[in-house]
Amino acid sequence: MSNSKIRVRFAPSPTGPLHMGGVRTALFNFLYARKNKGVFVLRIEDTDQTRFVERAEEYIKESLEWSGMIPDESPWKGGGYGPYRQSERKEIYKPYAQQLIDSGRAYYAFDTPQELDEMREAAAKSKMPNWQYNHVTRQSMKNSLTLSKDEVQRRIDSGEPYVIRIKMERNEEIRFHDAVRGWVVVQSNSLDDKVLFKSDGMPTYHLANVVDDHLMKISHVIRGEEWLPSAPLHIKLYEALGWTDETPVFAHLPLILRPDGKGKLSKRDGDQLGIPVFPLNWTTDDLEEIRGYRESGFFPEAFINILAFLGWNPGTTQEIFSMNELIESFSLERVGKSGAKFDVKKAFWYNQQYLKETPNEDLAKLLIDDVEKINHDVDIETLAIVCGMMKERAVFPHEIISEGKYFFIRPSEYDEKTHRKKWKENTPEILKDLKRLFADAEDFSSKSVEEIFKSYLEEKAIGFGSAGPALRLVLTGKGMGPSLFDIASFLGKKETVARIDLGIEKLS
Ligand code: GLU
Repeated sequence: MSNSKIRVRFAPSPTGPLHMGGVRTALFNFLYARKNKGVFVLRIEDTDQTRFVERAEEYIKESLEWSGMIPDESPWKGGGYGPYRQSERKEIYKPYAQQLIDSGRAYYAFDTPQELDEMREAAAKSKMPNWQYNHVTRQSMKNSLTLSKDEVQRRIDSGEPYVIRIKMERNEEIRFHDAVRGWVVVQSNSLDDKVLFKSDGMPTYHLANVVDDHLMKISHVIRGEEWLPSAPLHIKLYEALGWTDETPVFAHLPLILRPDGKGKLSKRDGDQLGIPVFPLNWTTDDLEEIRGYRESGFFPEAFINILAFLGWNPGTTQEIFSMNELIESFSLERVGKSGAKFDVKKAFWYNQQYLKETPNEDLAKLLIDDVEKINHDVDIETLAIVCGMMKERAVFPHEIISEGKYFFIRPSEYDEKTHRKKWKENTPEILKDLKRLFADAEDFSSKSVEEIFKSYLEEKAIGFGSAGPALRLVLTGKGMGPSLFDIASFLGKKETVARIDLGIEKLS
C-alpha cells in the first residue's frame, strides 16, 4: 500500500430522507477510515437544484450522529478541503470543464431539450428505444464537433444556452480494478456522452464528484452499486483531466435487496414487512409520517450491527459487534459481490440482543415518562424491576410498557383465548383457595408465593394447568408473560388478592 493518507468520503445528495442503504455506505466508509487511521469526509452533493430538499441535510447530519459516525470533515465541522457543500463550490468546476473543452476531451452542445426529446421519439418510432447522445449520434447533432468554430462562438456570445458533454472515445476498452468486484471492463462504444456542465452554470454530478474527490484527496471511493455504471466515465474523467495516477480505488457495495431477493428494498417493502427503511422519522410534504429505526425503538448499536451485515461478514460465527469491534474486523475484501438480502427476523433479533444487554436502570430511565402516563406513582427503582422481568421477552423497550401494563394498573381486559380454554367450572374455587392462602402468607417473596402455590397443587393433586393460567389471567389479563410468582410478589399481597377477586367477578 502507498504511504499516502487514507481519505474516504460519504457524498449524499440532499434530495429526501437518507435511505438505510445510504447509512450503510456511510458506515463502510467510516469503518474503513477508522480501521486505517484515515479521514472520514462528508460532502453534500447538492448541484441538482431541481431535486434539492431543504430539510434533507439536517436529516443526514442527525442520522450520522445517532448512528455514532461523526465525520472528521464536513460542512458543519469544516476541515482543510472545504467548502463541503457543492453549491458553495460552484466557481471551482467551470475551469475544469473549460480545460476539457480546450484539450478536446469535451465539447459544447446546443441541442434544446425539445430537440433531444424529438430525437428520442423519432428513434423510438424506428424501433431504437434507447437513443443516446454518443459517438455516433453526436455527428448529426448541434454541437461544437459539427458546427464551425465561428458559429459556435456566435452562439455562445449571443447567450444561447449550451451544455458541455464529454467526448467518449470510440473503440476503447476501459478497465479498472474494483476492490469488491475485481476487474471491470467496459467498451467505450456502449457509453454515452454525458453532460458534465449544465446550462444553468452548474456542473452535473459526474464532473463535480470527480473534481471534488480529486481536490479533497480522496483515496478510496466506497459507494453503492448503483454508481458502478458511472465508474468508467469517472475513470475517463480522471484521465482526461490528467489525474490518472491519482485515481482513487473504487469499491462498489452490493445492493440491499428484499428478503426474497427480488429487487431493491424499497419503502413499500418496508411497510409490508413492518420494518423501517430510514434511520429516523421523516415527515413528507403531504404530512405523511414515515417511520425511522430510531423512533421504532431500535438501538443505534443494533441498527449499526444490522447494516454491517448487509454486504459484509467477518468470516467467523460472531454476530454481535460493537462499533469498535467492527472497526477492528472490517475489510473491503470481506464485502460480498452479490446483493445483500434483508433479513427482517434477524433485524429484530439484533435489537433484542441489545435490549437484553441494557441495564435495567437505563431502560427504566428511558421509559419512566411513558409509565407516568399510566401510573404516576411508579418510581425508577420499581420500573427497573419490571424491566428486568420483561426485557427477555421484548424486542423494543416500549414493549416493556405496552406488554407489561398490568404491572402498573389492574387489567381491564382479559385474554379471550385463555379464558375460553383454561377457565373451568372449578376455577373460581381454586382461585378462592389460593387467595386465602396468599392472604395468610407472612412472606410474599416470589419464592414463598411459589411454594404456597405448589404445595396447594400437591395437596389437591391437580396439575399446573388447572391453576396457573387462570391465576395469570386474573393477575395480568394475559395468557403469557414472565414468571407468575415474580409478578404476584411484585404486585404484593394486597393487590394480588384484589385482582383475584376482581377476576373471579368478571370472568365467572
Ligand atoms: N451524490 C451521490 C449520491 O447521492 C454520490 C455517489 C458517489 O458516492 O459517488 O449517492
